[in-house]
Amino acid sequence: MIELLPRLPWYKSYRSLGYPKRLPLSYTVSVTYRCNSRCASCRIYDKAPVTELTVAEYERIFKSVGHMPYWITISGGEPFLRRDIADICKTIYNYSKPAIINIPTNGILYKIIPQAVEKIAKTCAGSNIIINLSLDEIGEAHDKIRGVKGNYERTKQTYDALRLLKLPNLTLGIHTVISKFNVKRFPQIYDELIKWKPDSYITEVAEERI
Ligand code: SF4
Repeated sequence: MIELLPRLPWYKSYRSLGYPKRLPLSYTVSVTYRCNSRCASCRIYDKAPVTELTVAEYERIFKSVGHMPYWITISGGEPFLRRDIADICKTIYNYSKPAIINIPTNGILYKIIPQAVEKIAKTCAGSNIIINLSLDEIGEAHDKIRGVKGNYERTKQTYDALRLLKLPNLTLGIHTVISKFNVKRFPQIYDELIKWKPDSYITEVAEERI
């Protein structure tokens, strides 16, 4: 965070005066609308399929954004459904070298995600890679919210495999979306998930993705 301090006057000046022009401190790229979960609280999958940008098209965008972003989130849909996600991250790293590349995931692709994360962490060695596994309930109750049988177990498998990687620039987090489906049980959900000993635990309030 300390490296942010010299940039703060620029950001503040641009925000209040519109000068000097500085591009965002943080932004989110939704690389796909496809998702292999069926959360009733989100429904982004209803927007798929759409034509997704290619790595070459992203390269033009990231090149124009340059080095200002400190934190870039790669979101979806489910970002690991993109088989070229490591290439997208590499392009971001080449042009922006953000301190943090944050990727939320439902964790279902337990065979693909650890391999992809290892590749991303090694390619983007100067960035902290945050993988946030999204868990809204425990066991079958989570599967019910996500509309996918076995989702909870597969996410646990992904978590365990990522833990074994022991990559120095990997932060492994858990992320709970709070909605009408789980809000009353949130203390118990937190108590159970925190036993996994994630590096971070965050929550967000459910909203329809735009
Ligand atoms: S909340 Fe996440 S996992 Fe659920 S459908 Fe939306 S993008 Fe997919």
